[in-house]
Amino acid sequence: MRDNTKWMLSDREIPDTWLNLATVVRAEYPRPVEGEERMPLSVRALSSRYSEECARIEMLDGLYATDLDISIPGEVMDQYRKYRATPLFRARGLERQLDYAGRIFYKREDLNPTGSHKPNTAIPQALYAREQGLRGLVSDTGAGQWGAAMAWACRNYGLECTVFMTRSSFITKPYRRYLMELAGGIVHSSPSEMTAQGRKLLAENPDHNGSLGIGMGEALETALHADGFRLALGCISYYAALHQTIVGLELEKQLEQAGVEPDVLVACVGGGTNLFGFMSAYLLRKLRGAASPEMIAAESANVPSLTKGEYRYDYADAFKLTPMVKMYTLGHQFVPPKIHSGGLRYHGKSPILSLMVRKGLIDAVAIEQERAFETGGLFYECEGVLPAPESAHAIAATISAARLAKAEGRKKDIVFCLSGTGYLDLKGYADIFGLKP
Ligand SMILES: *Cc1c(COP(=O)(O)O)cnc(C)c1O
Repeated sequence: MRDNTKWMLSDREIPDTWLNLATVVRAEYPRPVEGEERMPLSVRALSSRYSEECARIEMLDGLYATDLDISIPGEVMDQYRKYRATPLFRARGLERQLDYAGRIFYKREDLNPTGSHKPNTAIPQALYAREQGLRGLVSDTGAGQWGAAMAWACRNYGLECTVFMTRSSFITKPYRRYLMELAGGIVHSSPSEMTAQGRKLLAENPDHNGSLGIGMGEALETALHADGFRLALGCISYYAALHQTIVGLELEKQLEQAGVEPDVLVACVGGGTNLFGFMSAYLLRKLRGAASPEMIAAESANVPSLTKGEYRYDYADAFKLTPMVKMYTLGHQFVPPKIHSGGLRYHGKSPILSLMVRKGLIDAVAIEQERAFETGGLFYECEGVLPAPESAHAIAATISAARLAKAEGRKKDIVFCLSGTGYLDLKGYADIFGLKP
C-alpha cells in the first residue's frame, strides 16, 4: 500500500457517524446569545431562524450535549453514497516539482456533487427541513458553492430554495448561478430589492458589491417573513461544521490504510467548516492530549480574521439579525475587497474553529490572493487538477510547510484538504494569469 497513489474506501467503510467535538469542550464552548445584552438563547427561539434540528445542534441540546458520535440518518447515508467516500491522493507531481523528500497527500472534496465539500452539510440540512415539514430553505452564497449545494440538496428532498448571492460574484460568476437555477433554485443578487435592508443599501450605493454578511442578513429577513422557510448556513454554524466531520473520519481510515501518521494537516478557512471537518479526528486526539499532527489554517490575506481579527462576541450578519456568537472577527460591518476567492470573504470564523485556534491547537497563516492563484496554476500543471481558489490557499500553505521541512532537513508527511474544484473559477485564473478573453 505504501507505493499507492490513491486510497479509496468501499461503501461499507464509509463512516456512519459524525464527530461531535463540541461535547469534548462543552464547558468552555461559547453558546450563541441574543443581542448586546447577551441574553441566553433557547432552542425554541433559535428555531424561528434555523430548522429545529439545526437549532438543537447549535445549542448543544440533548444528545448533542452528551454524545461524541452522532449517527448519520439513513437517508443522508443514501445521498452520501452517491459520492462518498472521497479518495485520498498522493501529490507525487507536486512533490517532484518541489524536490521534496517527504510525502504530500490531499483529500478530494472537489469530486463531490456541485464541486465542493458543501453538499456534506446541505444534504442533512435539507433532510431536517423536510422532516419538519418546512416548505424550503433560504441562504446566502459568495462564489456560489454553497448556493449550488443547497439548491441541489433541496431539489433532492422536494424543497424550495432561495439564495442571496453576493453581487460581485453574481455578476462575475454566472456559471454557479446556472447550476443553482438548473436545480430549481431562485437566486437574487445581494444587496437586493427583495428586503428592506437590501433596498436601503442599494439606495446608498446602487453598485454595492455585497458581502456574505449582507447576504446572510437578507436571507434571514426573508426567512423570518416567509411561512415555512428557515435560514440554512453553510459556513459559520456549528451544525455545518459537525456534518463535515465525515471528511476527517474518512481521512483517518485512509491514512491508516496508507500506513501514514500525518505530521502536518492543512486546510483553507472561510467560515471554517472544511478545515474543522477535515481535521476533526486528529483534533480529537489533540484535545485528549495524544500525539497529533501540526495543524495549519490558511486564510485569505484580504480577510484576515484569524491572524488580525479579535476574539469576541459579534453578529454573524451585517444587520444584527442573527444571534451573537463568539469568534475571531473583523467586525460584522467589514466589507471585503472584491476578491476572487468568494468562499473566503466572510468577516468571522465559526465559533468552534475559533475556540480551537484560541486554545492553540491550530496555527493560522494568511495567504495573498495572487500567490493562491499562482499555486493553483502550478498544481494544475503538476497534478492535472484545477483547485478552487479557496483550496489553492491551502496548497500555498502546504508548499510553505514542505519548504520549511526541507530547509530543516526533515521528511514530513503533509496532508491538505482540496475543498473544491476550480473549473468554474477560470475567469479568476484568467484575470490573475493575464489571459485574454
Ligand atoms: C465555501 C468554501 C470554502 C470556505 O468555507 P469553509 O467553511 O471555511 O470550509 C472553502 N473552499 C471551498 C471550495 C468552498 O466552496
